[in-house]
Amino acid sequence: MAGKPPQSDPVQDAPQVSEPQHAAAGLPAIGHTLRMAQRQMGVKRTALTLLRLNQKDGFDCPGCAWPEPEHRHTAEFCENGAKAVAEEATLRRVTPDFFAAHPVADLATRSGYWLGQQGRLTHPMYLAEGADRYEAVSWERAFDIVAEELKALASPDEALFYTSGRTSNEAAFLYQLFAREFGTNNLPDCSNMCHESSGSALNETIGIGKGSVLLEDLYKADLIVVAGQNPGTNHPRMLSALEKAKAGGARIITVNPLPEAGMERFKNPQTAQGMLKGAALTDLFLQIRIGGDQALFRLLNKLILETEGAVDTAFVDEHTHGYEEFAEAARAADWDETLTATGLTRAQIDEALAMVLASERTIVCWAMGLTQHKHSVPTIREVVNFLLLRGNIGRPGAGVCPVRGHSNVQGDRTMGIFERPAPAFLDALEKEFGFAPPRGHGYDVVRAIRAMRDDKAKVFFAMGGNFVSASPDTEVTEAAMRRARLTVHVSTKLNRSHAVTGARALILPTLGRTERDLQGGGEQFVTVEDSMGMVHASRGRLEPASEHLLSEPAIVCRLARRVLGEGSRTPWEEFEKDYATVRDRIARVVPGFDDFNAKVADPAGFALPHAPRDERRFPTATGKANFTAAPVEYPKLPEGRLLLQTLRSHDQYNTTIYGLDDRYRGIRNGRRVVLVNPEDARELGLADGSYTDLVSEWKDGVERRAAGFRVVHYPTARGCAAAYYPETNVLVPLDATADTSNTPASKSVVVRLEQSVTN
Ligand code: SF4
Repeated sequence: MAGKPPQSDPVQDAPQVSEPQHAAAGLPAIGHTLRMAQRQMGVKRTALTLLRLNQKDGFDCPGCAWPEPEHRHTAEFCENGAKAVAEEATLRRVTPDFFAAHPVADLATRSGYWLGQQGRLTHPMYLAEGADRYEAVSWERAFDIVAEELKALASPDEALFYTSGRTSNEAAFLYQLFAREFGTNNLPDCSNMCHESSGSALNETIGIGKGSVLLEDLYKADLIVVAGQNPGTNHPRMLSALEKAKAGGARIITVNPLPEAGMERFKNPQTAQGMLKGAALTDLFLQIRIGGDQALFRLLNKLILETEGAVDTAFVDEHTHGYEEFAEAARAADWDETLTATGLTRAQIDEALAMVLASERTIVCWAMGLTQHKHSVPTIREVVNFLLLRGNIGRPGAGVCPVRGHSNVQGDRTMGIFERPAPAFLDALEKEFGFAPPRGHGYDVVRAIRAMRDDKAKVFFAMGGNFVSASPDTEVTEAAMRRARLTVHVSTKLNRSHAVTGARALILPTLGRTERDLQGGGEQFVTVEDSMGMVHASRGRLEPASEHLLSEPAIVCRLARRVLGEGSRTPWEEFEKDYATVRDRIARVVPGFDDFNAKVADPAGFALPHAPRDERRFPTATGKANFTAAPVEYPKLPEGRLLLQTLRSHDQYNTTIYGLDDRYRGIRNGRRVVLVNPEDARELGLADGSYTDLVSEWKDGVERRAAGFRVVHYPTARGCAAAYYPETNVLVPLDATADTSNTPASKSVVVRLEQSVTN
């Protein structure tokens, strides 16, 4: 019955395994979507809600950051977007009675799936010091408690202000403004754990940490390389764009250790032809060895350099720096070792090269499969080298395309959510608001966890998200969180982070993106920035889940007034009443947002400027696009070990578990599974269906164990295994991060598989 959460908690995983599928979406996706939506919202609300999703006068999907097409379909969403919205618009409620019945110790035993299925939070809840359960508290009292703890700190730098990528531009701008007026740059965000490596590499090489292609460019490309990404689950509407690009003559190279149904065939539910037959997407599947992507692009670059006339010398001469040094390094690359690092054959490399040389407009798309390794930044620089060689930046149908996984994660960074803000941004903030913002760099996610572990940070405040489940080294992270004086979560639904608390804890329930936001100045809308730098409005349309909810901007403004007091000259009250006044300030502080309110009045939104794309101007240290001559790196594997990548199931979005199935991979009713190549399993003596413990090995000698995983013989690349997070985040050492970006290296964890002691 709609609105009724599952009573029993299926902690005990009982995965059933069948053959992986070879096509994504189609009729099953429609059926799955409607069944799941009806369970959460009932029939009428399902129709009301989904027909407003991603529409010009509707609300933006709180799922991934895939852009909206100019022409919106009646059903302009994918299965996973519908899941995200249904969980937010659910009729299920988590009331004070729920907390009275469930002490924190009980909540801590519950699976993330069960917690998330309980529904929407309705009241501010407080866990007093020494208490065993949350109790309802007034907003005023809640802000008092936060103010007490913040004011008791020896330094503002003992506070952490975390942001998840769902936070709107207006809330993010106000949040960073509050944190900086309070006196700290401790603004860790979920981008630290996902595309930070992309930002670091692109800022250095092309001068801006964002993708250079718009949706239309995908339709104009004649070669699209999709590397380290599983769009079928994580950015499903991208499949429609790839289908359209193919129809326009594009060819697709997929680079992934795992064959994924979505990149094999897409059954587009928007057309009868699509639904029945579908479209094959991938022309060449390169089943790369985990962490072998830099080596692959290095070999392609080496061959391009060795091919007469293949280099766009006019572009290279006019727009780039460092070509000679890079070319020398590429020419010197050792074939055998570099090829081994890829796990591919020479024939496959040659086939890819032929497609590259036949292309005049190439785009490379990527996601976590490239960003969560020790050598991710050099890998993405090598991708840029690959595109620069043939002038594939700054012209239609060509460019870099990091695909963001959270609906406004790029927007949050643009609004100043960054622990290492640019001096120019702080100068603009100081000029606009008349206070001296802190200039010292703050903590990113990994450093924030260390700071809590080492008692250097005592107050943790999260704007959305599920920090403890998203973070690496689960036992270390949870122990660190429990050392805090106060943990505060601005949330829509229950999650594990609410059960791993500081001495005191608060849960502050907020409006969802689907919900009407009425403030003193009337009905408000917020804005988001998608993965391609398009900014548009999002208007909530549903009645709020509870009369006790506050919007994210209202929470920040009231907290700021309570904490900063009369001393602050920032018009927090005005900002709370009318978000247009916030946008006026954003227009004066953030480049590209001039005339913000006027520009966002256009239902299609507007594109932010991107100098490399728009003018082939590269605002780097050299004033040119920079080639990089980095040594090729790849993970080394001791005998009898496997390289594990942590990943999402199809019934999952980041740490939100919508269900226990991963139907494209043939997994049902269970999450504690490890996908292992049959040859590797045979050599390790692991029968399909047997149970194993995963033990990661790291130089600190600490044994990190994830117990009781069902072995699934799966066509992964040799030496490479895969399992879901957050269950396997316990295996990722806190200090195992990417060089430069400090992103957790969750995609290449060295593990041994031991006979399970629990099953
Ligand atoms: S592709 Fe992403 S943004 Fe679009 S509906 Fe699906 S989850 Fe939402």
